[in-house]
Amino acid sequence: MEVNVVNKEKIYNKLPVFLQNMAIHAEGWKINRRRYDGAYNSLLKSAQERTFWTEPQLHKWQEQKLKDFFSSICKNSYWSDQFLKYGIDLVQDSPFEVLSKLPILNKSEVQKNRLSIINPVSEETISRHTSGTTGGGLVFPETHYSEQLQWAIWWRYRNWNNIDKHTWCTYLGGRSIVPIQQDITPYWRVNKPARQVMYSLYHLSEKTARQYLDDIQRRRLPWIHGYPSYISLLANYVIDSQRIGQFDFVQSITTGAENLLDTQISIIEKAFGVKPKQHYGLAEGVANISMCPEGRLHVDEDFSLVEFDPIEGLEGAHRIIGTNWNNTAFPLLRYDTNDVAILTPNQSCACGRAGRIVARIDGRQEDYLVLPNGVKIGRLDHIFKDMINIKEARIVQNSVTNARVEIVKREGYRDEDEKMLLREFVSRVGGDIHLEFAYLDQLPRTKSGKLKFVESNIK
Ligand SMILES: [Zn+2]
Repeated sequence: MEVNVVNKEKIYNKLPVFLQNMAIHAEGWKINRRRYDGAYNSLLKSAQERTFWTEPQLHKWQEQKLKDFFSSICKNSYWSDQFLKYGIDLVQDSPFEVLSKLPILNKSEVQKNRLSIINPVSEETISRHTSGTTGGGLVFPETHYSEQLQWAIWWRYRNWNNIDKHTWCTYLGGRSIVPIQQDITPYWRVNKPARQVMYSLYHLSEKTARQYLDDIQRRRLPWIHGYPSYISLLANYVIDSQRIGQFDFVQSITTGAENLLDTQISIIEKAFGVKPKQHYGLAEGVANISMCPEGRLHVDEDFSLVEFDPIEGLEGAHRIIGTNWNNTAFPLLRYDTNDVAILTPNQSCACGRAGRIVARIDGRQEDYLVLPNGVKIGRLDHIFKDMINIKEARIVQNSVTNARVEIVKREGYRDEDEKMLLREFVSRVGGDIHLEFAYLDQLPRTKSGKLKFVESNIK
C-alpha cells in the first residue's frame, strides 16, 4: 500500500504540467463521485431543514441517534466489554446515562484497541487516516453514509455563508500538488470537478508571491479556502506589495484544518476586504462546529454529541469530547479530540440557531518551519500522517538549516519508520534543512498543557 502511494507520487512528479492537471481532474472526479453521489442531496436537504431546530427538537434527535448507534454495536467488542465493565444496561439506561457512565476515551486507548473497536457493518467503508495534533496517526474505517453526511454538514455551513458547490475556489490546502523540486511557475494546478485552483503551499515565498497574486487576480475567483496560516501569509504579501484593493472580486474566505488566529483575521480582512469564516471538524467525526452568518461558532448539535470538559486552571477552556453516532463502522464514545474550545457565557445569537456557542477554538495552533530561502512551511503534521508507530512527535527548529524531530515511539517502531519519515520530510520541505531524530519518553508541554507542534527558536 505504502509502496503504491510512493510510486504514484513519483510518477505524478515526473509528468508535464498538463498531464498533472489531467491526473488531478481524474482524482477530483473520483472523489466527487464518492462524496456526492446517491443519497448526498437528500442528506444535505434534511440537514438544511434542521438549521433552525429548537433545543427540545435537537435533544430528541440526539436521544434517538444515540439509541440506534448503541444498538448497532456488536457483541464481543471493545464496547460490549466496556458496557459490562461499567454496569451499563442498554435497555434500562437512557442513552445519555450510558455516556455518563463511561470514562473519557483518549487517543492512545483507541490506538491500543483499534481492532476490537472496529464494528462489522454491511455497507461499504473507506479507510480514514488522521495525523492528529500530536502527530500520532490513526487509521480507521468509515461508512459511506458517515462520509457523505459530514460533507453535507460542511456544505450546509458554506451555504449559510453564500458558497455552494458551483462556486469556484482559490484553494490553499495541504496537498502537495506541485513537485517540491519545481522552481518555475506555475505553482498551481486546476481541479475542475471540485471547482478549485489549487495553489502549492510549499512554494509560496517572498520570491514567488507576486506570481501567485498575479494568477489569483487574473482568474478573479470569488472564494478563497484553505489553511489560515497560508491565507494570511498571502495576505501579508498583498499588503507588503501595496496591492490592497486589487482583490475586491473575493466575496468569501473560509478556513479549515488550523485554528484561525485573531491576528490572521485582521491581516486577511485588510488585504482582501473580507472577514474569514471558520469551522471546526475532524476525520473522527465526533464534533463539528460551524460559523453562522453573524460570525459566531455554533456546535452542530444534530451531527454528533459534543461534550465540553473543563480544563483546570484555564478560564473558560474546555477539551472537546464527542461521540460519532454516524460512523457505525468505528464507534467512538466520549472521544477526547485533544482540541481546546473557549466557551462564552453569552449563549444567544441573532441568527436564531440553537447550537451552543463557542467563543474560540484554541487547539491546533501551529507554528512555521522556516527554510533558508525564507519560505515558511506550516501544517507539518501531515508528515506524520499514516505513521501509526509513532505516539507523539513534534519539530523543533533552532536554526534555518537544522531541525530536530522529537518522537515518542510506539512498540513496533522500526528503522524503516525513520527512513519513511525522512522521505516525507524531504518531499515537503526539500533537502536544505538537516533533520535529526530524538527519541523521548514524553514530549515537553507548555504551561497550559499544550503541545507546541512546531517549536521555532528562530528570531
Ligand atoms: Zn448564530
